[in-house]
Amino acid sequence: MTEEKNFKAGFVALVGRPNVGKSTLMNNLLGTKLSIVSPKPQTTRMRILGVKHDKDAQIIFLDTPGVQKGKDILTKTVVESAVSSMEEADVIAMIIEADKGWTKEDEQIVENYLRDIDKPVILVINKIDRLKDKRMLLPLIEESQSKFDFKEIVPISAIKGENLGKLIEVLKRYIPESPPLFPEDQITDLPLKFFIAEIIREKVFKNTKKEIPYSTAVEVESLEEGKVNKDLLIIRAVIYVEKDNHKGIIIGKKGQMLKKIGKEAREELEFLLGKKIHLELWVKVKHRWKEDIRLLKVLGYQYIS
Ligand code: GDP
Ligand code: MG
Repeated sequence: MTEEKNFKAGFVALVGRPNVGKSTLMNNLLGTKLSIVSPKPQTTRMRILGVKHDKDAQIIFLDTPGVQKGKDILTKTVVESAVSSMEEADVIAMIIEADKGWTKEDEQIVENYLRDIDKPVILVINKIDRLKDKRMLLPLIEESQSKFDFKEIVPISAIKGENLGKLIEVLKRYIPESPPLFPEDQITDLPLKFFIAEIIREKVFKNTKKEIPYSTAVEVESLEEGKVNKDLLIIRAVIYVEKDNHKGIIIGKKGQMLKKIGKEAREELEFLLGKKIHLELWVKVKHRWKEDIRLLKVLGYQYIS
């Protein structure tokens, strides 16, 4: 572990409405795929922690779920986890989209979460690659200054990696001096089972439409090493759905959809974990699983009390 003088370490909460690019940004900053990325909103259901290790600093990112509406226990938990990420953070980075400008939802985030918070808030204007003319940024920056007292405003493209160095430099200014908080080889505190479940869930998202992605949850029931081949990992996982007809859709004609999801997940897991994977996938119907506290806990929603 590095024990330099003036070393900095602290937490940064990434907040913003769904789809602004929080997960893409974090993954790109860390250079690893941790938070699942998808064009559908609300892919991130809970806090995911990633650690960026630099020579002079450790920046710990909290990727918050998009603030959302709803009355079920899952939704409430998700909102609570967003709030608790902000409470833990030293710095808040709010993200908006360059091409969309300030939306009503963005303004609500400022009103509901940032207005009373006594922490430095940095505005990140993402997706500048979508602007035909970069001069469009000037009026948007000016407008942003009138919305809130942002400490700094940093335009970036998370996907193209544009200006990310600048963003890191700015974040470091607001992070306290502290010895490193995590060992150098650790990039997340996610348990392996949860990490695997997220990869599988991403494949369900990618391959299904409408309400199906939002009605699914993935539980990794068991992880075993191969008895003969220690480089083999045997994974048994269940995809929970809310309705009987959803089960049929996920399995697909002659099981083709489930095969496709399984194949994509297996290939990615083999790449990410550097092991051979044997993946057993089951689909189970569980009506109202979003209200099932035991299951939500198993799935890693640790804020449920
Ligand atoms: P989150 O819901 O805020 O975590 O957003 P995601 O990271 O899942 O991104 C939502 C969508 O926006 C995905 O399709 C990303 O590929 C896309 N996206 C993210 N960052 C950028 C960017 O800098 N430029 C462009 N053009 N697209 C981006
Ligand atoms: Mg996300």
